[in-house]
Amino acid sequence: MENKVNLMDLSIEEMKDFCVSLGEKPFRAQQLMRWIYQFGVTDFDLMTNIKKDLRARLKECCFIKAPEVVTEQKSRDGTVKWALDIGGGQLVETVLIPEDGRNTLCISTQVGCPVGCVFCRTGASGFNRNLKLSEIIGQVWRAASCVGFSNNEEHKPISNVVMMGMGEPLYNLKPVLSACELLLSDYAFALSKRRVTISTSGVAPVLNSIAGKIDVALALSLHAPDDELRSKLIPLNDKYNIAEVLDAVRNYISKSNANCGKVTIEYVLLDGVNDSLDQAKALGKLLSDLPCKINLIPFNPHEASEYRKPSGNRVERFARELMEMGFTVMKRSTRGDDIAAACGQLAGQVKNRLKTAAIEAKRI
Ligand code: SAH
Ligand code: SF4
Repeated sequence: MENKVNLMDLSIEEMKDFCVSLGEKPFRAQQLMRWIYQFGVTDFDLMTNIKKDLRARLKECCFIKAPEVVTEQKSRDGTVKWALDIGGGQLVETVLIPEDGRNTLCISTQVGCPVGCVFCRTGASGFNRNLKLSEIIGQVWRAASCVGFSNNEEHKPISNVVMMGMGEPLYNLKPVLSACELLLSDYAFALSKRRVTISTSGVAPVLNSIAGKIDVALALSLHAPDDELRSKLIPLNDKYNIAEVLDAVRNYISKSNANCGKVTIEYVLLDGVNDSLDQAKALGKLLSDLPCKINLIPFNPHEASEYRKPSGNRVERFARELMEMGFTVMKRSTRGDDIAAACGQLAGQVKNRLKTAAIEAKRI
C-alpha cells in the first residue's frame, strides 16, 4: 500500500485534482466522497455508478482506510469511547456522547498535545505528532460505521462534531480545516456549520488567519479571568495573552455565521483555584463587551492531576453570579467519567514524546 494514496487523506480540492489527474471529470470526486462518507463504502467494486475500468484504475493507485478500533468502552450513561490505532504504538481516542435528540462526537486532532495545560490529562501525556486528515476524518468515519452513516437528509446518526478530544486543533491547521470542509460538505457528512465546533486554547495568530476562511462554531478555553492565573493554567498564555486572544476571537466571530454572533467561552472550574465569587465577578467584567455564552466545566479528575472538582454549591454560586450579570451560562454535565471519557480525561497512548524545543519547531 506504500505508494498508494489513501483517499481519506485528500481534501475536497485534492480529491477533485486527483480525479482530473486520472483524466476524469471533477464530479467523480463527489461520487467518491458520497460512497466513502455517506455510505461507508471502501471497496471500489461496490461503487456501482463508477465505470468498471475506472474502478480497476482506482484499485491500482489508491485505497480507502480509516484507523482501526483497538478498544471500545461503553459508559453506564451511554457514552462510548474508542481507542484507534494510528501506527507506531500510538493510540488516539474518540468519544460519542448521546444526548436527547442528538449524538455528539468528540474527536482528537493530535497525538497528545504540545500546549500542556496543567489540569489536562492529554497535556500530561506530552506530544508526539499531528494527526493526518485520514486519522481525523477517519474517527468520524469509524464512529459512523458503528452508529450509522447519514445518507439521507433527515436522519443524522452523528449530529454534532466537536474538536475537543486530544490536541490543539489550531496547531494542526491544514488537516483540521480539510476535515471541517468534509464535515460540512453535502457530498460528505453534510452537517450544519453550527454543529461543527473547534475548541482552542487560544492560538491567536492562527485564529486570525482562519477568520473568514472557514465558518464553524468556535469555543475558547479561557479558564481564568486574568493573565497571571491563566498563564499558570495554560502555558500558551505567556505567548498570546487574554487581550490578544479575545481580539482574535472577536475578529473570527465578526466574519462567521456559524456562531450566530456569539462565541462559547469554556471555563474549567478548579476547586479553590479559579472558582471564587470574586473570580466570577472578574470574569463577567472581562467578558462584558464580548457576545458569548459561558460553558462551565467542573474539573474532571484524573491520575495526572491534583486539582479537585468544586462542590455543587460552589459551581452553582459561580454560575448564578454570572447569570445575574446577564450572561447565558451552561453547566457541562460530566459524561463518561467511569470510562475516563469526560473532557480532559483522554490519554490515548503517546509514545516517544517530543522534547519542548522539538515541539516548538513542529508547532505550525
Ligand atoms: N485543546 C483544545 C481542545 C481540547 S480540550 C482546548 O483546550 O480547547 C477540550 C476542553 O476540555 C477544553 O476546554 C479543556 O480546557 C477542557 N479540559 C481539559 N482538561 C479538563 C479536565 N480535567 N476537566 C474538565 N475539562 C478539561
Ligand atoms: Fe491541549 Fe486542550 Fe489539553 Fe490544553 S486543554 S493540554 S490545549 S488538549
